[in-house]
Amino acid sequence: MEIIHISAECYPVAKAGGLGDVVGALPKYQNRIGHIAKVVMPMYRTKFLYNNDWELVHEGGTYLGSNWFRYAVIKEKSNKLGFDLYLVDINGLLDREQVYGYDDDTERFVSFQIAVLDWLNSWQHKPDVIHCHDHHTGLIPFMMKYCYGYQSLATIRTIITIHNAQYQGWMGWEKSHYIPWYDDWKTGLLDWGGSINPLASAIKCADRVTTVSPSYLEELMNSANGLENLFEFERGKCFGILNGIDNEVWDPETDTYLVSNYNAETVEAGKEENKEHICRQFNLDPQWPLFIFIGRLVGEKAAEILPDVIGNGVERHEGRINFLVLGSGHKHLEAELLRLEAIVGKNFSCYIGYNEELAHRLYAAADFLLMPSLVEPCGLNQMYALRYGTVPMVRNTGGLRDTVIDIANVDGKGYGLIFNHAEAWDVLSSIDRAMGWYFEQPGILDGARKKMMAIDNSWENSAHHYISIYQ
Ligand code: ADP
Repeated sequence: MEIIHISAECYPVAKAGGLGDVVGALPKYQNRIGHIAKVVMPMYRTKFLYNNDWELVHEGGTYLGSNWFRYAVIKEKSNKLGFDLYLVDINGLLDREQVYGYDDDTERFVSFQIAVLDWLNSWQHKPDVIHCHDHHTGLIPFMMKYCYGYQSLATIRTIITIHNAQYQGWMGWEKSHYIPWYDDWKTGLLDWGGSINPLASAIKCADRVTTVSPSYLEELMNSANGLENLFEFERGKCFGILNGIDNEVWDPETDTYLVSNYNAETVEAGKEENKEHICRQFNLDPQWPLFIFIGRLVGEKAAEILPDVIGNGVERHEGRINFLVLGSGHKHLEAELLRLEAIVGKNFSCYIGYNEELAHRLYAAADFLLMPSLVEPCGLNQMYALRYGTVPMVRNTGGLRDTVIDIANVDGKGYGLIFNHAEAWDVLSSIDRAMGWYFEQPGILDGARKKMMAIDNSWENSAHHYISIYQ
């Protein structure tokens, strides 16, 4: 089967969050099990672009509304990612340093989708499946079926994977002329609540819809930023498939970012060495447990409770605790964390920004990973933590619920900590539980680490699951 993934992100080319990790791994595993999976994404100005060799495969021109634009498609020459990677270059629109966050993001991603379809339209043979990811590619199923210019693509099957339904790509109807000439009778398939909603359109028009965990799909029926009824109505074609992780990129035994590599047998000494190094770098005392948070400093991740948790946690445990935060997001929160660092710097440090290498080193160094998320479609951090023998402390939601078992589980299968509220008091009582469970008796922490590291969250299972949905 030939599958074309179309996405705004793909690790290691460009990544802003979990979407990048998924699109960088799933196609590789689909190729390994005998299919042909390719990735098409925008050409941003990233390091990966400058450090690799490319060949030009197509040049074309088309319209965004009444504006003619030219585009080019280039392909990475060596297939080093384990799949064919194509970048779409649209001069002045896509070639920026960041993936998102520009005033003209609507124009950027609509142009990208139109350019991709214009290119696919020129192919002699046709792929079997077009796999779209999130709202940036959400107009594609509609355009393939109902735009007169793309009729050669109308019978190709489409699937949309929802990595995050909070963001839907809304655009006003005054921009409807951006979409190439389409059957007016189908206008309703673009609309939700009075504006063009690319994510809603994809849910209506794609042949299949998947979410990145089964629990997230259930939650979306009740809470989907306005799309609840749509999910309820379309539930027959919706499936929840848990993301995997790329076990080759995320492997404490071979991870070149770590100061000391380790496996399940050597986890205790290995983590200790990584922890000492990180604590030295961030001026923390390695004899105390290290709690980390990695992620976007936004409401969805309940990041606004972090200052409270850290301030009170340090006081409550009389300085015998360490916190480290790696993230960026709301400016007021970044400033608050830096202020707090100035006050309790002996026990807390933060790195404001995005740093892939530091993320790897933190998963290896930490004892506990905090994820109090309000919404967590799948969550990859907790799976990386498991792989690196770091105890995940997660709120009982979405993919976190599907991947973590509480240590108090009666069957003795547990290893992590689960709490119910995205509020400081609940995280603090969970930290109390952590101090009790894992440190009061010797051997418990090491046993939990071995259990966690034996869990297989690799892509193999999920890659097969996607194939059966395509079939
Ligand atoms: P989301 O996609 O909602 O941000 P996920 O848990 O699905 O959350 O994926 C987050 C990914 O982004 C993980 O690979 C995590 O390690 C990474 N990440 C998030 N913030 C940072 C950061 N500041 N520096 C490095 N990596 C980060």
